[in-house]
Amino acid sequence: MSNRELRRVAFIGVGNMGWPMAARLAGAGFEVVAYDAAPGRAQAFAAEAGGRAAPDAAAAARGADAVITILPTSKHVGQALEAMGDAIAPGALVIEMSSGVPTATKGFAATLAARGVAMIDAPVSGGVPRARSGELAIMLGGEADQVERAKPLLQAMGTALTHVGGIGAGQAMKALNNLMGAAGFLIGVEALLIGQRFGLDPAVMVDVLNSSTGMNNSTQKKFKQYVLSRSFDAGFGLDLMAKDVSVALEVGRETNTPTPFAALCREMWASAQGLLGPGQDHTAMAQFSERLVGETLGDKRA
Ligand code: NAD
Repeated sequence: MSNRELRRVAFIGVGNMGWPMAARLAGAGFEVVAYDAAPGRAQAFAAEAGGRAAPDAAAAARGADAVITILPTSKHVGQALEAMGDAIAPGALVIEMSSGVPTATKGFAATLAARGVAMIDAPVSGGVPRARSGELAIMLGGEADQVERAKPLLQAMGTALTHVGGIGAGQAMKALNNLMGAAGFLIGVEALLIGQRFGLDPAVMVDVLNSSTGMNNSTQKKFKQYVLSRSFDAGFGLDLMAKDVSVALEVGRETNTPTPFAALCREMWASAQGLLGPGQDHTAMAQFSERLVGETLGDKRA
């Protein structure tokens, strides 16, 4: 596989995460050609953040040294790769940054390798704020030489880059990270609901947890900001979180690992998708627990 330098980047998917990540690349001097399936989105990106917009995925890929995908699911990535087809030149590197399914990514990599195109997976953690500041955690799967080759690009988007294994390993790691995030969010909301019924103030509880051993990412970065404020706008969809927990469970099944607690967690997030409806932010998950209890966090009761 080629080791040519990566200057021109086809960036496929300028959604909540892709937009600020591609903006970091453009800001760092890479030649970014963006495409998004949402009409006008890539054009808006180019006008606001720099780079160019392509009319379709194949046009973005033509002449690119690297193709970055950050799309909702592996299914979307498969569609995008198919749409790009031969427009991805031999010697190019595909960097799949979605939180995808490791087995699907292995399949994509094998198909691309047959045409002389290398692929790594590089899913991210840190949400929209760290995508904006270029401080994402990036979990890398693939051959060491291709991971090295991608580093100048990745360093424009992230600060904690860890090569965790072969192709798909980054995505397995990412799914397990989000399984912990999803479970930590749910157990935290239940604790707040119990506390409120007991007479504790949820906002005070969050402060106490954050200086105690119950602290987690949700107590630090989600409960006050998006749940108690009732804004529910962290910029990460509930459907995407439910998908990530399902991927973690799939990895559990493939490795024959019993996961009863994770299974309950998955069922709760999947049930919330139906109950709360489409298009919800993942922090709206608190409303699912509130409905089970019949109590709203922050309600002052006499
Ligand atoms: P998003 O829904 O905001 O953006 C996805 C974009 O992909 C949309 O603009 C959509 O129009 C576009 N798209 C869909 N199919 C396409 C196709 N075939 N070709 C071109 N564009 C297509 O999602 P997001 O929040 O940016 O998340 C993207 C990925 O990153 C997901 O896998 C998610 O799990 C992961 N992720 C998200 C966050 C977050 O905080 N939002 C954090 C870490 C990881």
